[in-house]
Amino acid sequence: MTSLVIATLDSYVSFSVARHLARSRGTEAFGWLLLGALTMGIGVWSMHFIGMLAFDIGTPLGYDAWLTLLSVAPIVVAAGAVMWMVSHGAMPPWRLLLCGVLLGGGIGAMHYTGMFAMRMDPGIVWNYWRVALSVLFAIAGSTVALGVAMRVTSDRQRTYRATLRWVAATLMGCSIAGMHYLAMSAAEFPFGSWCLSTNSALHGRWLGLIIAIISLCMLLFTLSMAVLRQRIQRRESRMDAALTRAQNALTFQAFHDGLTGLPNRTYLLDTLRQLLKDSREPIAVLFVDLDGFKAINDSFGHHAGDEFLRSVAHALRASVRERDIVARFGGDEFVLVLRAYRNTDNLNAICQQVLDLVSRPVVVAGHTVTVSPSIGVAVAPADGEDADTLMRNADTAMYTVKELGKSGFRFFERSMHTLARERLTLSQELREALHLGAIDVHYQPQNDLRTGKLAGLEALARWNHPTRGMISPTIFVPIAERAGLVAALDAHVLQTVIEHLKCWKARGFEPPYVAINLSPQELREPMFADNVHETVVFNGIDPARIRFEITESTAMHNPEVTLRQLRQLRQKGFLLSIDDFGTGYSSLSYLRQLPTGTVKIDQSFIQGSSLNREDREITEAIVALSKKLHLETVAEGVESEAQATWLKEIGCDVAQGFFFARPMEKNELLRHLGVVDITDQVPC
Ligand code: C2E
Ligand code: CA
Ligand code: CA
Repeated sequence: MTSLVIATLDSYVSFSVARHLARSRGTEAFGWLLLGALTMGIGVWSMHFIGMLAFDIGTPLGYDAWLTLLSVAPIVVAAGAVMWMVSHGAMPPWRLLLCGVLLGGGIGAMHYTGMFAMRMDPGIVWNYWRVALSVLFAIAGSTVALGVAMRVTSDRQRTYRATLRWVAATLMGCSIAGMHYLAMSAAEFPFGSWCLSTNSALHGRWLGLIIAIISLCMLLFTLSMAVLRQRIQRRESRMDAALTRAQNALTFQAFHDGLTGLPNRTYLLDTLRQLLKDSREPIAVLFVDLDGFKAINDSFGHHAGDEFLRSVAHALRASVRERDIVARFGGDEFVLVLRAYRNTDNLNAICQQVLDLVSRPVVVAGHTVTVSPSIGVAVAPADGEDADTLMRNADTAMYTVKELGKSGFRFFERSMHTLARERLTLSQELREALHLGAIDVHYQPQNDLRTGKLAGLEALARWNHPTRGMISPTIFVPIAERAGLVAALDAHVLQTVIEHLKCWKARGFEPPYVAINLSPQELREPMFADNVHETVVFNGIDPARIRFEITESTAMHNPEVTLRQLRQLRQKGFLLSIDDFGTGYSSLSYLRQLPTGTVKIDQSFIQGSSLNREDREITEAIVALSKKLHLETVAEGVESEAQATWLKEIGCDVAQGFFFARPMEKNELLRHLGVVDITDQVPC
């Protein structure tokens, strides 16, 4: 019974060693192989000698030391070979059988060498049929046990795996012990036979005990190694899992936008390239840019801006199907890739849906805000067969939407490229024009509504292009902004205004003030107020004759810096006015902090006042509010007498517009104002 238990335990431990062997490499693998082979070998060996303790032929038994030691060799070698085969490569039936033969043969060789170590006299009489049967039994048993052990795979349940391992170990133990006892039944000891090894050091009982102890130690050692290894492995696999998770998170981060969770530019371009390469289905790229997003960011802070972008991302995702891609391209730009959109009508409908969903009013940080998306569409393969061309063309189409007044969608057309090229040429020409002083300043009078007298002038830049004629600032100011020329433009305008003022002064004409438009870029220049002041004073002009106009959205941009800059301008004696009031999101409390004396109501309200009640009410509210804050109100874009009368009635102070006068060249203005005689051709 003890021998059977030893053989089973030993097999169990050997099988677990084989598992570790399969998972290790290099020296570690060699260590496991050695340990496994020794465990199996010594186990079979000790089983044999413990089994021999149960054997009594009435005469004391002993074992020859060298033969006993030698007997362990075949099973150690066989076990090593089998372990190696089991842990390397697949196990087709022939290989399994080969392992069985090796193991069975090894067990047999051990047993019979061990028997010879007794050196019986006269020799043992063998029943060769039984000898053959014992070896065959060992081979068959080993094969079956190995076959069962090989079925223990990691995709099974844990308890199932443990049971299977014990079944395999028991089968193996039974084949080892079975072989032993079958082999013993094949041996016949003739009457009076005598064991020649009795007097050697390895006396029967002691040998059994020593071997049992060695074997047990070996078993315990191997088992603890296996358990230790398993612990380490579990920890390693836990670490592996954590690493995999971190890796996945990193990959996600690399390909997704942290704010909206949408795929980012890298992911988009990669996927688009792959799609264009692999699929034959039609693909449409929608380039979506949010007009007016900046105002939200500037007015309510970045948190609100973020919240808004998330809501847009949500709206975009909701407006297309699962398989379409929605990515954040950067800042306030999103790109949609539509797959298999069927036909142009359908594509039109999708664009309209995107437009509607994104334009819907959203409440962020307690304010209702809306933006209007400009969408450019390019389809593959018609508008480009590769990702870069498609993206560029969608972008061009999007810019066209912006130029045509924002909000809406356009499909790419070849002619748009001409426009884009023209824009580029224009920006180069603008640089030259600024250099040559080919940008002129025109003036539009502002009239006091109560007295009807001239309240002031607004300076408006004009570009007299050699071939295109007069170009409006609505076209070239954005170009200047994009080309980084706006500071130079504004400086040029200021210098020109100063020259004109000097000249007019010499002729006895001093307008109450000249309003000059300031770009947001200018206000970011820390020395701006100082520089402007120096220039103006140097030319002998009173700063109080210059009024800077800052649009409401510019004033809301980076409020702290703007506020500091505006206060400095005010301290130096310049006048300030908030332009296009009503289009941004400025709050009453912020308006009170601004050191401005004037609010310029946006022309859209004045023009709308003739058509709808809301615009009239808003204008009236702005005028009333400004009165409370002791601010002067200027209405711009006044085109009719009715508008002028109504504005006067509601208490607006100053009006500017085509009804009074269009912007004029400086000499024309002097004539218009009656400052100089019509006959005076070149007054300044
Ligand atoms: P703004 O400051 O709102 O200027 C008023 C615009 O309204 C001017 O257009 C003016 O010609 C136009 N306008 C005046 N009265 C009427 C009217 O009764 N009806 C209509 N429909 N329009 C009227 P303009 O000169 O084309 O200038 C457009 C914009 O370009 C300006 O808007 C201003 O923001 C910018 N701008 C003009 N000159 C400069 C400049 O020197 N520097 C900078 N940074 N921007 C400038
Ligand atoms: Ca203005
Ligand atoms: Ca304006």
